[in-house]
Amino acid sequence: MVSKYKNQYTQDIDKNAKIKSVEFKQKIEILEDDNNLSEIINLDQAREKIYAKTKEAVFIEVKSGENLWTIGNNNNISVEELQNLNPQVDKEMRINPGDKLVISPEKPMLEVVIDFENTVVEDIPFETEYVKDSTMNESQRKTISEGVNGKQEVTYEIVLVNGNISEQKISNKKIIEPPVSSKVSVGTKKATVSRSGSSSGTNRVVSGGRITSPFGARVHPITGAEIFHKGIDIGASQGNSIYAYANGIVSFAGWKSGYGNFVEINHVNGLVTRYGHMSAIYVKKGQQVTAGQRIGAVGSTGASTGPHLHFEVLVNGVNKNPLNYL
Ligand SMILES: [Zn+2]
Repeated sequence: MVSKYKNQYTQDIDKNAKIKSVEFKQKIEILEDDNNLSEIINLDQAREKIYAKTKEAVFIEVKSGENLWTIGNNNNISVEELQNLNPQVDKEMRINPGDKLVISPEKPMLEVVIDFENTVVEDIPFETEYVKDSTMNESQRKTISEGVNGKQEVTYEIVLVNGNISEQKISNKKIIEPPVSSKVSVGTKKATVSRSGSSSGTNRVVSGGRITSPFGARVHPITGAEIFHKGIDIGASQGNSIYAYANGIVSFAGWKSGYGNFVEINHVNGLVTRYGHMSAIYVKKGQQVTAGQRIGAVGSTGASTGPHLHFEVLVNGVNKNPLNYL
């Protein structure tokens, strides 16, 4: 019965993980004392004692407009802790009104400490090399060769207490395949017609910013589940302008679960761009937009932990790495 109790915490762990130890935090004594008959209890009672809790879990219900960041703030808990307590919340941190989230875990009488190691394969994001081209206009960019993400083996050392992460560190990283940089030519010729609002820098869809989360697959270190980031996250200040990637027609402008305030633009040749987590939207569905036109402002609406632009590029319905298009 006691080992079955321990097992309830090991079943969610990735099958390939190496479990090093499963221990009780509290000392258990198994007494065999025939004289103490009055103390002998039946199996049900024993079960009840083993599974007793000193504290029940505390849940909150997600209200409309809330994200992990605001929930964390209101309940004095970090976004990372919230994610650890609610593994069902994916990397995009999509939550919907009505979802129930644990903000304080249950505390069983008998605490189980599991020490394990898990080696997973993760993507290494590629970098972009820019090559100046004097035959192209300043606002133009052209992809010469597409980048390819590399692969690496990452070993995590994790300690779970009652199924929740209490320690997590990376003990080893091994590159299996190095990433291949993408090459993009950047025009340097002064354009005769200046596009209003067109920004400079590497991310012309938003003013300023660096990539805070790359495109591609990531494996959850505990469950082994694969999570796919369909775009890139570009960190930028709240309120910074967001610009249309190219000429096109707005096919969506409004609230979308996970994405918050969201705009989708259809361009030519099956190209679609998406912009998420905006604080404001300046365009309407069906509206024609030109490259570099201001379509919204950076925010943190939807499943977002801080102000950034989530930017996606799709070609014929398939998500592409946006770094190859910027
Ligand atoms: Zn994102």
